[in-house]
Amino acid sequence: MPSAFVSPIALRTTRLFTTLSSSVRSTSFAANRTRRVSYPFFTMATTTDQSTQRETLPHGFQYDLFVIGAGSGGVRASRIAATHGAKVAVAEYAPLGGTCVNVGCVPKKLFVYGSHYGHDFHDAQAYGWDVPKASLDWPRLIRNKNAEIERLNGIYGRLLDRAGVHLIQGKAKFVDSHTVQVGDKQYTADKILVAVGGRPFVPEFEGSEHVITSNEAFYLEKLPKRVVVVGGGYIAVEFACIFHGYGTEVVQLYRRDLFLRGFDDDVRKHLAEQMQITGVDLRFNSVVKKITKLDDGCFEVTTNKDETIQTDLVMYATGRHPYTADLGLKEAGVTTGQNGKILVDDWNKTNVNHIYAVGDVTDRVCLTPVAIAEGHAFADTHYGNKKRNVNYQDIPTAVFSTPSIGTCGLTETQAREKYGKYGVDIYKTSFRPMKHTLTKREGEKVFMKLIVEKSTDKVVGCHMLDAAAGEVIQLVGVAMKAGATKADFDSTMPVHPVSAEEMVTLRTKEPNPQ
Ligand code: FAD
Repeated sequence: MPSAFVSPIALRTTRLFTTLSSSVRSTSFAANRTRRVSYPFFTMATTTDQSTQRETLPHGFQYDLFVIGAGSGGVRASRIAATHGAKVAVAEYAPLGGTCVNVGCVPKKLFVYGSHYGHDFHDAQAYGWDVPKASLDWPRLIRNKNAEIERLNGIYGRLLDRAGVHLIQGKAKFVDSHTVQVGDKQYTADKILVAVGGRPFVPEFEGSEHVITSNEAFYLEKLPKRVVVVGGGYIAVEFACIFHGYGTEVVQLYRRDLFLRGFDDDVRKHLAEQMQITGVDLRFNSVVKKITKLDDGCFEVTTNKDETIQTDLVMYATGRHPYTADLGLKEAGVTTGQNGKILVDDWNKTNVNHIYAVGDVTDRVCLTPVAIAEGHAFADTHYGNKKRNVNYQDIPTAVFSTPSIGTCGLTETQAREKYGKYGVDIYKTSFRPMKHTLTKREGEKVFMKLIVEKSTDKVVGCHMLDAAAGEVIQLVGVAMKAGATKADFDSTMPVHPVSAEEMVTLRTKEPNPQ
């Protein structure tokens, strides 16, 4: 455990309840600048060994199901399997809830909420409020965030406890295809589910030891004045906006010509424009050549264009890799693919008949609701007499940038590939939202786009940029799942006055491409 980052950890472990003292995981920004760690920040050496659990079941193993990893997918799978009557154990060596709860969606969204207040104080004045100059107590944010996560860790523990799942604390490793070792104990199971998730990937280069990842960004002791965010995925974009919202000077570097590859091109362009208007320094086609630590403790980033940027912090968000390196998959005979991802079929089954995998470790769609859905479908199929798998079509999703993105279905490029160059109609609009007619704040322009398959009139893609995009797209997703047509959108009564009413009043088709 890298002591430069983590103070001594006070872990109170009751039977199935893991909690982490809120004061112990804060990461010194100053110390942090020189080294990088990978979540989980600590290991729990103790293994809860209950002698009654050593008895074997009629199939000759101790458990019906052994789950490795108590994150989004693993907790759901083990809880549902146990509720269906299976004897289940789950191994976990970090606080319960995995990436999403501890260093992912939840703390990220809390940071996003917090980052918006800077703008809100400013906006309030246009609505008649005299707001005294606001100041930021960053450590208070971190303390409150940690307390909330601790509460969630506890909820996860109680959920497992109530379902009768046996929590084994420690790092699990396959001994063979039916046996898992945790600490100095071995456990056998009829089926094993791998749900170990992923972790940030940082390439090796001169000075890469100086960078942090999103894991450490959640535990900074102080807010940096200047930050360089490297990467073009949604985590990089979200953190660029979070830091910027809190008042940090942000430079975002990305090696290609536009960030958020895989999202609709119009949305990508519109977001880049809005971020630039607000002052985020976006530099595309930029690759970091080296990072040098300066005498004053700051860093100098040199790019492929020989530009140099001085900064207090460099955060890398350049992808995540499945966390399979030390899992003993070879001993179990499980085949892996690119970057160590576990290869599975449509039923989450690996090449070994009784070993399954769900969630980010399979590197299919790396989102919390997807990991949960896969874990639940797995448990229902094997222990609930309900054979089902996950449908990956039309997954609504959000990027919590400022403004945020909501997206569901095909991008325009994908739709033209699928239905032909002239097989789709495109409807789009862009406008200043009503709230900002008074505030005059720039960088908050709304963008909306519907992609409609011509022959069926079905809406096959919806992409938007709006402060409430995440909320709106959830329900557009329901409509699209139900096969809504453009005519259905048009015949829906608008809610007035909201931005989303434009989604049901889009009338003008874009001209066909040349
Ligand atoms: P995880 O939740 O990562 O759980 C894996 C668990 O396995 C961990 O607790 C780990 O400690 C444990 N483990 C690993 N190895 C072992 C071992 N050998 N023995 C025992 N335990 C082990 N998704 C969204 O849907 N919306 C978002 O807004 C969003 N934001 C994100 C923001 C960030 C910064 C990040 C990093 C991710 C975000 N995600 C988001 C993605 C989401 O967190 C993941 O898709 C989700 O957590 C995957 O769940 P999982 O069960 O596959 O893995």
